[in-house]
This record gives sequence, C-alpha cells and structure tokens, in this order.
Amino acid sequence: MVLTTDDLVLYKRCSRRVFLERFGDSSCRESTSGFVRKLQRDSTDHRRQIIANWSEAGSTQRVEFPKGDWNSGAAETLRLMEAGAPLISRGVLIKPAGEDGLDWIGRPHLLVRSPEPSTFGDWSYRPVDIRMGKRPKLEYQLVATFHTILLEMIQETPVRYAEILLRGRSPHRVDLFTRRPQLLELCGDAETVLTSDTLPEYFISRSRCSLCPWLSQCHSQAQQDQHISLIPGVTPTRYRVLAALGMTDLGAIAKADPKDLAKYPELANGGVQNLINQARSCQEKRPVPRRDDTWEQLRQLPKSSVELYYDIEAEPERSVDYLHGVLVVKRDLQRRVISEKFHAFWAETPEEEGTAWNRFVEFMEQYPDAPIFHFCEYEPNTLGKLGKRHGTAAKQVDRLRNRCVDLHAWVTRLFFLPVEGYALKQIAAYLGFSWRDSTANGSQAVFWYDQWLETGDRQLLETIEIYNEDDCWGTYHIAKWFEGLAREDELAIAETA
Ligand code: SF4
Repeated sequence: MVLTTDDLVLYKRCSRRVFLERFGDSSCRESTSGFVRKLQRDSTDHRRQIIANWSEAGSTQRVEFPKGDWNSGAAETLRLMEAGAPLISRGVLIKPAGEDGLDWIGRPHLLVRSPEPSTFGDWSYRPVDIRMGKRPKLEYQLVATFHTILLEMIQETPVRYAEILLRGRSPHRVDLFTRRPQLLELCGDAETVLTSDTLPEYFISRSRCSLCPWLSQCHSQAQQDQHISLIPGVTPTRYRVLAALGMTDLGAIAKADPKDLAKYPELANGGVQNLINQARSCQEKRPVPRRDDTWEQLRQLPKSSVELYYDIEAEPERSVDYLHGVLVVKRDLQRRVISEKFHAFWAETPEEEGTAWNRFVEFMEQYPDAPIFHFCEYEPNTLGKLGKRHGTAAKQVDRLRNRCVDLHAWVTRLFFLPVEGYALKQIAAYLGFSWRDSTANGSQAVFWYDQWLETGDRQLLETIEIYNEDDCWGTYHIAKWFEGLAREDELAIAETA
C-alpha cells in the first residue's frame, strides 16, 4: 500500500474522504463535476505555463511512465537526477515502507538542480510546487515538506529550502523546521486511517464537503442520523464540545439550558441561545422568530407597484460579470399581481460586459422607484464595481444601490429556519420553490459559460439563463413568503382589536 501526495492533501481536508477514495464503493461516488474538471484543467494549464516560463526552451525534462507504475517513474527520476538534469518535471520520489507502514510516494511539480553536493556529485535538488492559489495554505506547505523529506533521503543530503510558486505572488519559502514535525504527525495519522478497516466519522461542512464526490453518501447518512453537523452554526470545534457533553442529536441541543452551555467559550462565541433556537427550529420544522419585533420589522419590507428581483452571473477567473437577470413584477393597488416578466442582459463574450451593463442600467432607470430585491451582497457590490469599470456616473450607480434590498440579510435577521444553511437554494426550497434544473448552481454556471466560450454551443447560454431566472424567482418566492406572514399577522391583530 502507498501514501501519495494526493492522499495527504485529501487527508488534510477529510480523513473519511481519503479512506473512501481508497476503499469506498465506487458506485456511490458521484462523477467529478464540470466545475471541478474546469478547476483541474485551469490548474494544469497554469502549471504548464509557469514551467514553460521558468525554463529555457528544452531544458525541462518531464518524467513519463505507465500509469500506476510508480517504480518505473522513480527509476526514470533517479536516472535524470544522476545525469544532472537542470529541471525535472513531475518526478516520482519513493520512500519504501518501514514495518507495518506504507510506501511514501511524492510527486513534486519541479525538481530544480542546486549547487550543494549530494550522492549524485557536486549537485543536488530542491522541490518546487506550483499552485493556483494566492496564499501559502498549510496543506501546500505540508506537501512541500513531504517532498523535501523524500528528496533528502534519496540524495542523502539536506534540502536547503522548498519553494511554492503562488499565483501572482512572490515565491513562498516553506519553514521546514516548523512544518517537519507537523508533517510527520499528519503522515502517521493518515497511515493509521489507511491501514485500519474502520470508516472515519463524517462531519458535514459546507466549505469542505460541497465539492466532494462522496457528499450524497455522507449527507444521506447524516440525515438518517439527524446529525448535528446539519445544524447551521455547528462547526467542527463546537461539535467536539457538544459531543463530549453527549449532545449528538437535535433534541438534546433544543432542550439544553443556555446557562449550561455558556460555560464553554467555543459555544458561547456566536451565541448559545442562537444555537438552541436553531436546533429548535430544525427539530420542530418551523420558523422561529429571532427577535421580539420580528413581525413589526416584517411590515417594513419595501412595497411598490413595481418590484425588481435581480441576480448576476459571473466568471471570476476571467473577471467578467456576464449576465444581469431581472424579474419585473407589477401589481395593482390591492397588491394583486398584474404581470411577472423576466429580462436578461447578456455579455455573450467578456468583451461585451460594458454593453450588457449599460443596457441593464438603462432598463433599471425605467423604474426609478422600484425596490431591487436580491440575495446576499454580491449584487450591490458589483453595481459599484461595474459602475467604476465602465465609467457610469457615481450618482446613477448610487440611485441603483440605494434601492437594493438584501433578502438574505432580512431572513437571517428575523428568523431561524429549519434548513441546513441559509443559501438561496436551501431557503427557497424550504418554502416550496424548486429550480427547473436541480443540478444547476453558481459553480456549474461558471463551467457552462467557460464551455460556451470554447464551443459556441448556445444551449449552454439557455441553461445558464434558466438557472439565473430561477434564482430571481426563488428570491421573489422569499419576498412573497414575507408578505404573506406580514398579512397573516395583520389579520390576527385586526381580529383581536
Ligand atoms: S462529504 Fe464531507 S465528510 Fe463526507 S467524505 Fe466528503 S468531505 Fe468528508
């Protein structure tokens, strides 16, 4: 058995993931999403570009070997190192297993020849890793340390420093002295997991699990167990404290005495009562008001004979905001809906961003008094950014921004909801709205736009537009829910008056 660079990266993110990748039932593994494939392709292109810029033409030697035949790769790498190749790309470094351990296999992006003597002669090598990220994340540093340990063992001389090339930043030199003990501990833990037959526990965390191909499997298990990692606000640190107190199900947290939990700083930070109310909402499957004046506040939500529901699609890698979608809802004096019509302002290529923006601004100015409902801060922030980028008068942009109403802020200020998270899809789905394409999401839209630019397949634009329109309808659904609640409350007040 082996412990590879990829295993280490996966283990650092989630011990269960590395176990499932090695021993899990592959029929339960979802196929890699288009968005993840795009990220992988971007990362490979970036690496190739850096290596091409780094080396003089022809001076980099790439190690080629049959897939999975690590020994051939290691032999070829050793041959190149012994021959003193100045730059070796995708070399294979192997440390054979000790007792009961695993072979360690490292694949640094580059091995760069250095003037310090080694077993090869009056030269040696140092590892260089190339990353798309802009920050030297701990996982990058530990992987670079892993490569360093393997290299030192093979060339029988210390490596002076390992480098990480970050995107748009100066190279980062890894503090090997600090990272070495951390890496050895990580390898020991990963070996324990990979040589055991026990599947590690799951913990559903949006940031960590959202792109994981095992999410369906872990999530359905968590739902079955009513696992508290599904409660918004339960972080891994909080989970450890709650589990030590025996509170591993919704009911236990919902019934907890806030005074008992407030003793623990990990729980107190962020509000014990919030945690309990959130658990109550999930257990009782109903909204729980957050504030004494929730109902009064609800009645303050802007109303108008014309309402605009707005959502943007963007491609961050290309720095382009390529679609402004607006659902226009018109009402009569009794607030009955007269019409609901969606409008899309497209930049079919990144170069058309300014034209799409100007058409959008002109359209919005037809409704100078209409509130602009959106979900989260991206839309108002982007209005400011695009206004500057395309030379729109500040007053004009301010007129748009001042009309923005963030329904995410309204929901999270007024209610705890029985949801696993406060994203638009989760809230609108709880309220009964569903997207026409259940696989669509923001990341997928990034992938589709990228594909459109490459293939010219207009079906992709239509798919994105449907997704964007449904985001506007989902936002509208939340506003209608708010209005319905406010009306019910008014009726209740009138009946008791
Ligand atoms: S879904 Fe989450 S808990 Fe499950 S394997 Fe993936 S990262 Fe780990």
